[in-house]
Amino acid sequence: MRDTPLLMPPMPFSSLDADLAARRAQHLFRQRTVLGSPQGAQVQVGGQMLLNFCSNDYLGLANHPDIILAAQQGAQRWGVGSGSAHLVAGHYAVHEAFEQCAANWVGKPAALSFCTGYMANLAVVTALVGRGDAVFADKLNHASLNDACQLSRADFKRFAHNDMAALERLLATSTAARKLIAVDAVFSMDGDIAPLADLLRLAEQYDAWLYLDDAHGFGVLGDGRGSMAHAGLESPRVIYMATLGKAAGVAGAFVAAEQVVIDYLINFARPYIYTTAAPPLLAEALLVSLDLIEQDGWRRERLQQQIACLRTALAGRGLMPSATPIQPLLAPDSAAALAWSATLRERGYWLAAIRPPTVPTPRLRICLSAAHEVAGVAALADEITRLLDQA
Ligand code: PMP
Repeated sequence: MRDTPLLMPPMPFSSLDADLAARRAQHLFRQRTVLGSPQGAQVQVGGQMLLNFCSNDYLGLANHPDIILAAQQGAQRWGVGSGSAHLVAGHYAVHEAFEQCAANWVGKPAALSFCTGYMANLAVVTALVGRGDAVFADKLNHASLNDACQLSRADFKRFAHNDMAALERLLATSTAARKLIAVDAVFSMDGDIAPLADLLRLAEQYDAWLYLDDAHGFGVLGDGRGSMAHAGLESPRVIYMATLGKAAGVAGAFVAAEQVVIDYLINFARPYIYTTAAPPLLAEALLVSLDLIEQDGWRRERLQQQIACLRTALAGRGLMPSATPIQPLLAPDSAAALAWSATLRERGYWLAAIRPPTVPTPRLRICLSAAHEVAGVAALADEITRLLDQA
């Protein structure tokens, strides 16, 4: 045997380790929290029951008995797996039924369902625009829309948040073949609503298409029909997307638009074509969820009461302007946002600290839900007031 020194191979992931260490040092390390109970006003976290102010279950439907029953019966009827992509052998009668109901509900001729909102955004933008085209995007759009714009290879033009003059300058100088304006209808981290009438006017003036990601408006605004209905607008130029894991309480997304757009997506949208269809039992659950969104107006009324209660109690304390269930409270820095979240947790409240790079300014994101009584929101506001007074 040769007497060679044993050379230790370099640690294979040391560069990843270094990146994570840098994140920890900046209080930006991301971790998941394990829940031991279903969604609701209270959730079990680490053996403790906490009042839940960080989920997107805005209407309190995620644990609704009628939707659970529909999912159970859907599993009995269709099994648990779809078995295939929609274009092969995974498109069921209940998928069709859900798409028709979703389209009717938002006042569009046709709709197409997706496994997630992230995939819907990738699908729509990459299918509709490419090289030689341009996509105009708000700087505060959701990460999935940004990824979609980048992946599309279209000229990716970003404008300052809600700045219609900046958007108009970009549109006026564009020579792109196809122009797509893509925005969150309700901004996920700030809770504000996009100026939809102005966006539509510019889209018409410059012959652009308008793509709206209404992940946070669907079910909540416009009597549940979403942000376009809330703004009293309707246009064939608008391609509308809603996610179904938030107010609808289930999972997935749908895109609603003119039939030609839906046919185009079925033919060209890779994230639609090359993935296994969502289990049909989810479409059964979603049909019941749509009924509840329509019938249970009291859930939206309760949200409005909660928003009014919170904003009155925390007036002048750093709440960002927002008329939706997303109510962000600005923090001086990431460490403070984390410390506030930790203190509130000790006191029985669960709120997410959102920090860069997800947002430019650290904050507590308060998410309201019809699962709570209004009194629960008043108690939260008291607790936050005490916390800020002590800071
Ligand atoms: N768009 C927005 C504005 C969102 O907030 C989210 C979810 N955080 C998505 C898209 C992605 O939806 P999904 O969770 O269904 O993938």
